[in-house]
Parts: sequence; structure tokens; C-alpha cells
Amino acid sequence: MANTSIPYKTYLTEQEMPRYWYNVKAHMKNKHAPFLNPATGEPCTKDDLRSVFCDECIEQEFNDRDEYVAIPQGILDFYKMFRPSPLVRAYFLERFLDTPAEIYYKFEGNNTSGSHKLNSAAAQAYYAKQQGITRLTTETGAGQWGTALSMACAFYGLQLCVYMVKASAEQKPHRREVMRTFGAEVIPSPGNTTSAGRAILARFPDTGGSLGCAISEAVETALSTQNCRYVLGSVLDHVLLHQSVIGTECKIALDKYGIVPDVVIGCMGGGSNFGGLIAPFMGERLQGKNEIRFVGVEPRGCPTLTRGKFAYDYCDAAKMTPLAKMYTLGCGFMPSPNHAGGLRYHGMSPVLSQLYHDGYIEAVAVGQKSVFEAATDFAKCEGILPAPESAHAIRAATDEALECKRSGKKKVILFGLTGTGYFDLSAYKQYNDGTMTDEAPTDEMLIKGFASIPAIR
Ligand SMILES: *Cc1c(COP(=O)(O)O)cnc(C)c1O
Repeated sequence: MANTSIPYKTYLTEQEMPRYWYNVKAHMKNKHAPFLNPATGEPCTKDDLRSVFCDECIEQEFNDRDEYVAIPQGILDFYKMFRPSPLVRAYFLERFLDTPAEIYYKFEGNNTSGSHKLNSAAAQAYYAKQQGITRLTTETGAGQWGTALSMACAFYGLQLCVYMVKASAEQKPHRREVMRTFGAEVIPSPGNTTSAGRAILARFPDTGGSLGCAISEAVETALSTQNCRYVLGSVLDHVLLHQSVIGTECKIALDKYGIVPDVVIGCMGGGSNFGGLIAPFMGERLQGKNEIRFVGVEPRGCPTLTRGKFAYDYCDAAKMTPLAKMYTLGCGFMPSPNHAGGLRYHGMSPVLSQLYHDGYIEAVAVGQKSVFEAATDFAKCEGILPAPESAHAIRAATDEALECKRSGKKKVILFGLTGTGYFDLSAYKQYNDGTMTDEAPTDEMLIKGFASIPAIR
């Protein structure tokens, strides 16, 4: 059924806005394996996590019972600043691709952080404030998460220290200034302010850093600072829960028009935007109410689902964090250079790992030149300069639409456009100059990474 009557952009009214997050775990028959305490090897208790994370986030992390979790008014008030985000029917891209497919995208880049990350930053800063915490630490790769958390901390009145992956800090000095403008302290990682940073520098003096390494530094500082907690922008169940606002808004809008997507596509770093986008659709799929395909897209340079192992691994390079059962390239894996900084994490959300393992999610890995080709076509058609991360989803959505053209099938494609690429212009420059490379890890590099996975079950 062709829905040519759908407006170019659909915004929900204030009355239609979701007041609940959607907890997909409520409908998963196979819950993911518990986190393990690195000291004892036993399943983590809530108390094990209290020195690192805020209490309410821990409650949410362990909640695999409630389908709906109310969004507190204090968070709804902040959400009003940048939500609802538009659901766009990509009429111009469809015309360019000459496809019978209907393409929709949910655009999360309309805030200063330029990404969906503000959805969880708002929630985590709010809960920290409620608990009487005064200071937060975190890591940031590409910079979107650090910026989002800086904005949230400014809004709720919290201090913030951001460990920024050194290569990004050097490539994107302007990102750092945005964070500092919102009041955050920004420290390139690895650095010599923590023992984790000093240890990594001693082993790899020239390293540009990694997310896993920045996490180690941020956790160490949270543990050694009064009234301070650590917050993570992806991977964990409570972050996916907060990001479900993306999928819920999509579903409310699509339901109004009686549209059910055939395929939902998102890029995957730690899995938060994809997990949030698919949440309510996956919930129905798990109850046998639809047959939607879910496609996660990762970079060939960091192929966590397509080439990784499903095993217990540490969430950080210094092996300080709890162990999670997830798809992983090994906590010691150093990804090949890739411009999608937000997709360079060695692990993957345990929820999405379990769903992938159980066959509910497909995964594809795409090369970065083809990603920038799709990004450029998209920018020309739809007028938005996409983040390189988001462009992975554009690549896969474009491929689906081209497949529809070949087969004559009229599929409905929904993808997540997670953010804008204004701070990624050196990547666009390389693409435009024709100097961009397409690197994938060799089997030897993967074997080296796998060697850092601890031997547990
Ligand atoms: C961080 C980021 C991602 C990847 O993170 P997920 O947790 O997998 O969503 C994707 N796109 C943008 C714009 C990001 O900032």
C-alpha cells in the first residue's frame, strides 16, 4: 500500500508525546546473562554497582519485568527543549533512488550535541541530581555523548569531568570548546591524571586512545572522588531504556497512519540508538504481533556482531568494570582508523547481543567509503549533513531501497538518523579529496583482540 498522503515531516503534539519509556526486556524469554563482579566472578548485585552508578539507573538496569517505565516530569520538561524529533518521509531520497520503497527516518540531530545521546544524558543527570550527587565523570569518543552530558549537567546544575579519546580531542578541538562552554572539564585520554591512563601510556605511548581506555579513567576518578558517579552513554540496559523514546515517538506517529515498517535499520556502536529505535516494535515482534526485520549496521573497521564472539568480557580496556555477556572483539581490541568514532567500541549492548544471538536481529558491516557515498547522496537529497555514524544506517537503508527497485517490492523502510556531521568535516574532506581508506581488521588483529577476552564459561 503506497502512503503518498503522508506529510514530509510528522511531529507529535505535546499531548501525543510519550510519558513512558519502553522496556523491551519485559518480553524477552531469554534475558541476557547477568553482569559479573570482576573481583568475585559472581553475578553483580545492585550494591556492587552503587559506588559507580546512580541508584535509580541501577534499579532500571535490573528491571526486566515492567514493560513501561514512567518518565519523571523533571525529565519531560527538559525533553520539551528538543523533542519531539521529526519523523521524515524521505520523498526526495526515494525519488533519487527511483525506488518503489517508502523510506522514513527519525532525525535525532536537532540539538547542540547533534545526536540522540541527549535522551539518556537528560535522564542520567536528573537522577544523579535527585540523589544528591554533585559531580559526574564520563568518557566520550566522537564527542556527542560528552556534549550531551555537558548540556544535561548545565541544565540540572552538576559538575562534569569528561575523558575524551585523545585522537578525537585532537581531530575535533571545537567539540571540546562546546563542552567547556557548557561548563565541563575535558581531559584527553589516555592521560596521566589516572593510574589507568598512566598504565596504558606506558604500554602504548603513541596511542590515540580508545573508548574502553577512557571508560577506565572515568570510572577510576568516580570511585576516588567524593559524591561523584560515573555515567555511560551507551551499552547498558538503562541507556537503551531512555533511548526508547525514539522508537515510541516513531510508533505513535506511524500508528496514526496505519503504517507498519517491514524493516527497521540503525547503526550500532554500543547499541543505544538502535535498541531505542526498535524497542516498541521488537516488543510486539517478541509477542508474535508483527514480522518486522531489524537490521543493525556496523563499520567494517569494528565488526562486533559480524565477526565478534558471544562471551563474557570487560566493558573497558583496564578490566575494572563488571563483565558483560555480549558480542565482543575483546576489551584489548584496538579498532582500525575509522571516522565513525561513535561506532568504535569493542563490545555491544547485552540486550541486543542476546536478541542477535536468538535470531531476532540481523547485522551487516559496511565499508566507510560506501558509507560516505550514501551520506553525500542523502545530504544532497534531504538537506541534512549526516554524522558518519548515522550514515551507516543510510547506507543500509539505501541498499534495501535499491533491492526493492530490482525486485519491484514496495517495502516500508524505517531508519534512525542519529545525528549531524558538522564536527566530522575532516572525514568529509578525506572523502571529497579521494584520500579516504577502507580498512578492516585482519584475522590476526581479531585473534589478538580475542586473546584479551577472559576465560569464563
Ligand atoms: C554515539 C553515536 C552513535 C552510536 O552509539 P549507539 O549507542 O550505538 O547509538 C551513533 N550515532 C551518533 C550520532 C552518535 O553520536
